[in-house]
Amino acid sequence: MTTYFISDLHLCEQQPQITRLFTQFCRDKACQAQALYILGDFFEYWLGDDVAINGSDKVAQVVQKELFSLNQQGIKLYFMAGNRDFLLGETYADSCGIQIIQEPTTIDLHGKQVLLIHGDAECTDDIAYQKTRSMFRDPQWQEQFLNMTIEQRIDFAEKARQQSQQHTQNASADIMDVNQSAIDNLYTEHQVDTIIHGHTHRPAIHQNDNKQRIVLGDWHHQSSYLKVNENGMQLISA
Ligand code: MN
Repeated sequence: MTTYFISDLHLCEQQPQITRLFTQFCRDKACQAQALYILGDFFEYWLGDDVAINGSDKVAQVVQKELFSLNQQGIKLYFMAGNRDFLLGETYADSCGIQIIQEPTTIDLHGKQVLLIHGDAECTDDIAYQKTRSMFRDPQWQEQFLNMTIEQRIDFAEKARQQSQQHTQNASADIMDVNQSAIDNLYTEHQVDTIIHGHTHRPAIHQNDNKQRIVLGDWHHQSSYLKVNENGMQLISA
């Protein structure tokens, strides 16, 4: 009984090698698993299910086929949104056979309670980022965005990406990591001693007393996944 966890693929047309890595991962690894959890920033940006399904988003269409095939083989698929693909909706999810899970979600993993998050909400030292985040997560803002024309949405996403890149370059590395007390609060509030998240692109297994925080890696140069089975956990980049 193997479960895989992945995040931060940042799939997009400009980086076809990531789509190839993902396709390979589905066919070599995920197809033999019991479940696959995708913990956000699966896509570099998401303009709306309409663009993905009927429109110009070829990557979303390739990925849909791979996921649907896994679903047909009986693998359970879960998706939690990140800060880039938070508009991915039920229509696209249904077409893939993925179940959307809310953030945070606690799951039972071989008898252990494990908390799943994307990880951006816990970067509380980055105040400018948190402001943008609350705007993007506002349902009213989301509705307005989805009502724009596709051209307007592409334009907006492009600008947002540039701003985000600029911010990442200028902000100090410290403030872009999770805040320890934000993480400690999650352990207490959800009564877990294991958290799995992505977002920071700093893959690691942090062990602190009896607490464990597993950070998933990004896929820019290789595949990166957490494999969990009866024998334990392995964080693999290959
Ligand atoms: Mn992220």
